[in-house]
Parts: sequence; structure tokens; C-alpha cells
Amino acid sequence: MEDFEFVSPTHFVFGHDAELKAGAMLAERGARKVLIHYGGGSAVESGLIDRMKSTLDNAGVEHVLLGGVRPNPEVGLVREGVALCKEHGIDWILAVGGGSVIDSAKAIAVGAHYDGDVWDFFETKRQTNDVLPIAVVLTIPAAGSEASKNTVVSNDELGLKSGYPNNAQRPKLAFMNPELTFTLPPYQTAAGLTDMFCHLLERFFDDVGPVPVTDNLNLSLMKTVRAEAPRVLVDPDNYDARANVMWAGMLCHQGLAGVGRHEDWATHGLEHELSALDPSITHGAGLAVMFPAWMEYVYGENPARFAYYGREVFGLAPTGDVEDDALSAIDETRSFFASLGMPVTLAELGIGEDDIESMIPTLKENKGEPFGSFMKLSMDDAREIYRLAL
Ligand code: NAP
Ligand code: FE
Repeated sequence: MEDFEFVSPTHFVFGHDAELKAGAMLAERGARKVLIHYGGGSAVESGLIDRMKSTLDNAGVEHVLLGGVRPNPEVGLVREGVALCKEHGIDWILAVGGGSVIDSAKAIAVGAHYDGDVWDFFETKRQTNDVLPIAVVLTIPAAGSEASKNTVVSNDELGLKSGYPNNAQRPKLAFMNPELTFTLPPYQTAAGLTDMFCHLLERFFDDVGPVPVTDNLNLSLMKTVRAEAPRVLVDPDNYDARANVMWAGMLCHQGLAGVGRHEDWATHGLEHELSALDPSITHGAGLAVMFPAWMEYVYGENPARFAYYGREVFGLAPTGDVEDDALSAIDETRSFFASLGMPVTLAELGIGEDDIESMIPTLKENKGEPFGSFMKLSMDDAREIYRLAL
């Protein structure tokens, strides 16, 4: 087991009407003026934003609104948020939405006490503890940003989508009411399930040997996501299925499923280039295409690890040929994503052979070379993996 540090400061409030506790709990923690940050409309249409305003009003907490976060959030709105925080003396941010809103909120929280441009943090990865505290009302289980240390933000001008990790930006409060996810369109539910499953794959496949305490937790989460996925897609108002998926999404990415391992994260890097090139590409959908392609390219480094994954997660019986077992596990992974309604090829996402070359320079800038851990990848390897996904 590798040495590690693990920080998880998030206080979770989970279940029916969880979000209605936000006002009182923020007031108890000294919040006086809160920036309510949200997305493109779903939380307004459902009445959730009005409910959040009321709970803050009832607790005597002032608020300022900033909506309009798009999926694959952009730094332009982050800069607006930073300016609002400075202008109004904001002391907490309440993110109401999914990964895009939460990531935008984290970036605002990091920029709020900084004199320079917030993008500097994405470029330099410089750490700071001078970060506004964040509370979250989660509306889509997927990114796990409600407890993770990461934010991922696009910069359209530079053609980049970059991550910034910092434990100080992990949310302090997360309100998780599964009923808020009943309104999710099936495609978003499916993309969320795919993203959380991929957060486990990124942690399971690396260059470290077995870490049973971590690996068994990881595998049990994979099995849970796989079992709950059809339940939630067939019956979107099933509270228990939604609840299991919502809590799983957090567990898949808050970090415990990877402690003591190096983790890989090559495929997230490959996907971020797709959604940087075309922000209409949903992160989970891009991963559904890229992960099986990455697996096919790299499995030869350690076929036994893939065979083990296939046995544990998909119940595949060993054939006596570890290569065959590894390839079957990859087929099962692709079929699982397809069964959710996710795309299988880059063509389905509107990406063609001609686009590959344009993603390589930004991939190199974001990930460096070589990148990944299970197999150290060069930019030529990246080109081949994109080609496999066409
Ligand atoms: P999202 O981009 O936050 O939301 C996707 C869509 O779902 C939006 O169009 C949103 O519409 C809609 N939506 C959300 N909740 C809804 C609800 N309850 N009912 C109906 N529609 C709803 O999705 P996400 O997958 O959570 O976040 C994706 C982003 O997170 C990507 O940028 C990805 O790279 C990033 N990510 C971050 C981390 C991390 O650790 N920080 C990890 C993985 C991925 P509205 O805008 O109208 O609300
Ligand atoms: Fe992700």
C-alpha cells in the first residue's frame, strides 16, 4: 500500500427534505451573506431555488443569486462570481445543482480572496487555504464533486478544460435529497451512472499491486452501481434506487476507493479534451466511449487485473486463458455502458479522425507526457486510443 493523506471534511445531510435544513445550518456556522449558484434552469423550474431562498430568509441569512452555469462550466461565469463575492462581501457559497455548478462554485470560492485572475490556479495548481466555504444541494449524482477535492473548468478562449485539486475546496456541507433527482432526464441519469463507475475504474487500474482494503470497497461500489443502474432507469421515481445511486456517486469519488493506490486518470484526461472541443458533449457519455478504448489499448500491461475485475464485477467464469478473460471483461464494460443508452463510438458524439490532432496539444498541456499510471502513455499512444474509439 502506498503512503497517503486523506481529508474529508464534508458534513452530509441525506434524505427527504434535506435541503430545507440549509438555512439553519449555514446560520449556525456564521454565514451572513451567501452566493446561491445554479445552472441553466432545472432548479428554477422545479421551484428549488425559491425553496433555498426561503430557507435562507427564514434563518436571517442574506443572499445574492448567480445562475446560468452550463454543463462543462466556463471560466467567464466563474470570474463574474468572483467579482460578485468581492462586491457583496460574500462569506459562503451555496451550489445548487450537479458537478458543473459545484465545480464553478469551487473555482469562485478559490478566486474570491485572490487579487489576480482565478485561472492562474488552474495553470499553476498552486495550493491555497484562503477559500470560501461551500455548501451544496446536489441535484444529479454523477461527478461526486459534492465531496471531492477537484474542480474542472473550461476556458473557451484557450480551448482548455483543466482540473484543479485542493482539499480546501471540498464542500463543508452537502444536502442530498434523492427526490430532487426524480426529474433527471434518462440520458443525464445514465451519464451520471457512467461517470461514477469510471471514477472507480480510474482508481482500480494503476501500477500498484493489490490493496485489498481499498480494492474490495471499490469493487463493491462497482457492483452496487451496476445493480442499481437498471432499477433507476426503469423506475425513475424509485426512492430507494435513487438514494443508493446518490450515495454511491459520492463514495465513488470522495477518495476512499483509491487510498493507498496511485490511481490512473488517463481516460478522464482523454475525455476532457472531447468536452473542451465540444461543450455539448456530456462528460459521462465521453467516458463511455473512451474507457473501453483505453482498456483495449492497455490491458496487456496486466491482463490478470482485468480478469479479476471481470470475475468480481460481471461474474465472468475463468476460461483458463487470462487474455480471453481480460477481453471479456472489456466487452462487458462496453455492453454495460451501452445498456444504459450511452454512446459506443466517437462518431456518435460527432468527433471524427480529423479532430484527433487538434486535441493533442491541449492534452499534452493538461496531462504532461507521459501520463497515466497503469500504462505510461505518450501522445502517440493517445492518438491510437482516440482512433480505437472512432
Ligand atoms: P451537470 O453538468 O452538473 O448537469 C448536467 C445536466 O443535468 C444539466 O443540463 C442540468 O440542467 C441537468 N440537471 C441537473 N440536475 C437536474 C435535475 N434534478 N433535474 C433535471 N435536470 C437536471 O452534470 P454532472 O455530470 O454532475 O457534472 C459534469 C461536470 O462535472 C463536467 O464538467 C465534468 O468534467 C465534471 N466532473 C467533476 C468532477 C470533480 O471531482 N469535480 C469529477 C467528475 C466530473 P440545469 O443546468 O438546467 O440545471
Ligand atoms: Fe468524472
